[in-house]
Amino acid sequence: MIQLCRAGALCPRRALLPTLMSTPTAALSDALQTARSQPEPGCYIGRFAPSPTGPLHFGSLLAALASYLDARHANGQWLLRIEDLDPPREEPGASHHILSTLEAYGLNWDGSVRYQSQRQAAYQHGLQQLADKGVAFPCGCSRKQLQGRLHLRHCLNPPDRSQDYAWRFRVDPNSAPLCFQDRLQGRVCLSPANDIGDFVIRRRDQLWSYQLAVVLDDRDQGINQIVRGIDLIDSTQRQLLIYQAFDWSAPQYAHIPVATEANGQKLSKQNLALPLQPDPSGQTLWLALDWLRQHPPVALQYEGNPSVLQWAIQHWQPAALNGIHGLPAPVSFQRSPAGLRS
Ligand SMILES: [Zn+2]
Repeated sequence: MIQLCRAGALCPRRALLPTLMSTPTAALSDALQTARSQPEPGCYIGRFAPSPTGPLHFGSLLAALASYLDARHANGQWLLRIEDLDPPREEPGASHHILSTLEAYGLNWDGSVRYQSQRQAAYQHGLQQLADKGVAFPCGCSRKQLQGRLHLRHCLNPPDRSQDYAWRFRVDPNSAPLCFQDRLQGRVCLSPANDIGDFVIRRRDQLWSYQLAVVLDDRDQGINQIVRGIDLIDSTQRQLLIYQAFDWSAPQYAHIPVATEANGQKLSKQNLALPLQPDPSGQTLWLALDWLRQHPPVALQYEGNPSVLQWAIQHWQPAALNGIHGLPAPVSFQRSPAGLRS
């Protein structure tokens, strides 16, 4: 039996190429790709990181299952992190529903659950480090001032500290496109100056941004492989910029397609996707595997979740999703036509 790796023990973080930060910007993406080599066998650390804004639905089961299978197929760890950083958007009981539903499907995580709400001091420390490096700055710009434009070279004067203000990550206005090699979607590029601008890392209402918290937690937990929905792919370059600022190596990314309703809308909590019910028969997991283009045997679908998972771990082929951005959810997990927003 292959022993699972433990964070910080058998899975030392890979050293960043020493030339990364001094590399000319045009060559930076290639340096990043070189730095992001495949982890050693047995040293895979992945995760599932849902926000408790509603119950688990079929779309989030797909992200959980794909990240779980990718980790287990590599004899790796699979961690669970609840991203509860936005209390106004959270739904009472959602965290409990997510955990109990994952358990009901046999998606058992390693170690204890991490809650981002308990990580305030770490985020504050990270922000201070970025400010000391000169890449984080306070910003009092209002939406009205920005008029829908990217924030770039604004804030020539420090904000009035007696008013609410945000913190932004400073982007080089002369930077070349930043690219990464996604395991499923290929080479993905965005221009920090033209597509991103100085982005918020602490909000005006003092809540931490997803971008900063996710990098600090992934780094702290030793995550080196991220499998998540393609709806988050445009966040990746922001996170790579934060990794660069800290001189940290970034994880490798695989962005899976999103499941859609009959009208093409993404299945999401915002779009009132149907809550997922526990299904011990194995059929729901089988449908998820089928959606992930794993071609599970028909006879497997009523053999129970443990059998389905065992087959899926052994036969996991993520390349079946190469280049795919969206696929319709099985009809039983779509809302009825009357429930769809136009
Ligand atoms: Zn500003």
